[in-house]
Amino acid sequence: MSQSGTGQSGADLALPEADWSPASLRAQFPILHRQVNGHALHYLDNAATTFSPLRVQEAVAGFENHSRANVQRGMHQLGVEATDAFEAARGSAARYLNAASSEEIIFTSGTTFGVNLAAHCLGQLLRTGDEIVVSVAEHHSNFVPWQRLCERLGLQMKLIPVQASGSLDLDGLETLVTERCRLVAVSHVSNVTGSVTDLKTVSRVARRRGALLFVDGAQAAPHGPLDVQALDVDCYAFSSHKCYGPTGVGVLWVRDAVLQTLPPFLVGGGMIERVTCEGTRYLHGNRRFEAGTPPLVQAVGLGAALDWLMELPWPAIRRYELGLTTRLLQGLSAIGGLSLVGERQPQGRAPIFSFAIEGCHSHDVCQILDDYGVALRGGHHCAQPLMDSLGLTATSRASLAVFNTREDVEALLHALQRTVELLR
Ligand code: PMP
Repeated sequence: MSQSGTGQSGADLALPEADWSPASLRAQFPILHRQVNGHALHYLDNAATTFSPLRVQEAVAGFENHSRANVQRGMHQLGVEATDAFEAARGSAARYLNAASSEEIIFTSGTTFGVNLAAHCLGQLLRTGDEIVVSVAEHHSNFVPWQRLCERLGLQMKLIPVQASGSLDLDGLETLVTERCRLVAVSHVSNVTGSVTDLKTVSRVARRRGALLFVDGAQAAPHGPLDVQALDVDCYAFSSHKCYGPTGVGVLWVRDAVLQTLPPFLVGGGMIERVTCEGTRYLHGNRRFEAGTPPLVQAVGLGAALDWLMELPWPAIRRYELGLTTRLLQGLSAIGGLSLVGERQPQGRAPIFSFAIEGCHSHDVCQILDDYGVALRGGHHCAQPLMDSLGLTATSRASLAVFNTREDVEALLHALQRTVELLR
């Protein structure tokens, strides 16, 4: 993903560029070397979930085989080691996001949980007549929780429209975000079009009106370290499984000044200060939002994945990715009847490409591509309001990870050409 305006920071810990090549990266992903339907695997469904490098798998196995115990309550050596590993993972997440402190990091089960947590807790601070602004391009995970909150509390939900490309149309934002608006919720990167939201503009308008800014970072976080302070947002959620980490864990970052105002979400063990038969006092800070045994093994894996991502030479990776994007966009535009949904220029976008082919259903397209070992996602991508706005029901979507190569792109273009010939 291009760096400009994304809040994506360079990686200070990065390996020298000379030590990096797609082949050296691919060696860390044994799954890439399997076959599918008699063909080499060309995995281009990374926006749905991606793979874990050996280093992450080894970190998980090392924790399982050496230090597994419950955290924050162990009165023994293993409990101390497990807590240290868990808190080290929190530190990695804080560094990855350039959070002011690891105290601002809440471990969740993923982006969906993070949005629901925020909607529930922030919702308790809202009153009938307050407004929430959400974009029409959101993944259902960053749409339905806010919609439901509005229905429950009698809030007004206003929608940022999209341009014909599917990118957010921010021209009317000053008017849309009124003094009654308490929260704006947008994604950093669209899971359908790869379009990058101009968060600085959204944040400037939200700040002027005194509204909080919640960001769904599920599709931005996999593309390199971020800087939530420079982006000037209030909450940022992402999932581990799209960031080369294990499933079942994610991060919700909340700016400390906001975090301190929030009531609890789930209640139970691990988040209390004192419980009596008469009532309960809750812990302050991030632990207030981590009731019960957290996904500690997965969090350790996520910490390893984020450390691994921070060591990658991002400038070199972005140059390589730009080459793949340019070729992919050019190849897609040469396929008859194919229309790309999203920006056509290779710069300033994430490597997520949705397209519709006249006369071909996306499920059929994906099924035939699979016969060639090419894995894509087809459907509405959990973004039905966006699909409705664009007059579409479904698209096929290719999404790149750091291990994808020119061969993957060529395999897709070749198989796509064959698919079109077969279906039309
Ligand atoms: N937001 C966006 C933009 C996404 O792409 C996704 C996953 N497709 C989600 C939210 C939900 O993530 P998860 O299923 O990991 O909670």
